[in-house]
Amino acid sequence: MAGIIDGKSISLQIKDECKDKVSKLKEKGIEVTLAVIQVGEDPASSVYVNNKKKACEYIGANSLSYQLKEDSTQEELLKLIDDLNNDEKVDGILVQLPLPMHFDEDEVIRRINPDKDVDGFHPINVGRLSIGEKGFVSCTPAGIIELLKRSNVEIEGKECVVIGRSNIVGKPMAMLMLRENATVTVCHSRTKDLHEVAKRADILIVAIGKPRFIDDTYVKDGAVVIDVGIHRPDPDSKKLCGDVDFDKVEPKASLITPVPGGVGPMTIAMLMNNLVNSKF
Ligand code: NAD
Repeated sequence: MAGIIDGKSISLQIKDECKDKVSKLKEKGIEVTLAVIQVGEDPASSVYVNNKKKACEYIGANSLSYQLKEDSTQEELLKLIDDLNNDEKVDGILVQLPLPMHFDEDEVIRRINPDKDVDGFHPINVGRLSIGEKGFVSCTPAGIIELLKRSNVEIEGKECVVIGRSNIVGKPMAMLMLRENATVTVCHSRTKDLHEVAKRADILIVAIGKPRFIDDTYVKDGAVVIDVGIHRPDPDSKKLCGDVDFDKVEPKASLITPVPGGVGPMTIAMLMNNLVNSKF
């Protein structure tokens, strides 16, 4: 039986640490402020935006909300970003993705001042990560490093296999594990013999976007398994599942993240961490 990595309680620890830092800053008269931009009214995006506002409230940071209409133009959005870039009171700028189809997301991300890019998506921050410079790191992979460290998983020298090479999870995850001195392999949809590669892993990180894709046949005995996926397996199901078939993999793993309650809660906690650390 595997130990369960409790993302809910670790994320709470991190938010409490942020809260302490914010209150110490406030004693010195320093405020911390996140600006959140949403375009349109996609219900899932509204839930994420709301959760980010709540997290700001919890740690004592200010949140400024900007709601643009679905049919706003790229220029209007860029102008708002410019204004927030120039506003000294704003420490972090977050544009909730995905944007409606007619927007050029890459241009939007590039327009955010890299020193306010708390999502860590700007190419400058991606570059900083890959050469080991200080900068904002994409929140989900940064959260996974915290989950591993706070669960006393030794990373240095371990075989780590990351399944998935997206810009927001797989690639930054691989860079972070490299920074922690793991031996890293990245797998993707063109990888030949995924079973063989995945079974090498002491630490297996799965960000593949397919419900319960990874079962016990991909996992070495005693591996630490981190499941990034979040799915509603069918539209009527109240239960969520991950990219890992938890019931099959759990008996084989030494430690595993559940879905929900594993990686999920870490993303917003690390967003708060990025926001607060922008002051240090
Ligand atoms: P993505 O779709 O951008 O990338 C998926 C990756 O998996 C791709 O690089 C692709 O090459 C790889 N892949 C697809 N099929 C494969 C196969 N058969 N074999 C090997 N590799 C394969 O997804 P993403 O944005 O990286 O997200 C991955 C999952 O994580 C999704 O379920 C998403 O919902 C979830 N997610 C969760 C959080 C969180 O906060 N917990 C954050 C971001 C993403």
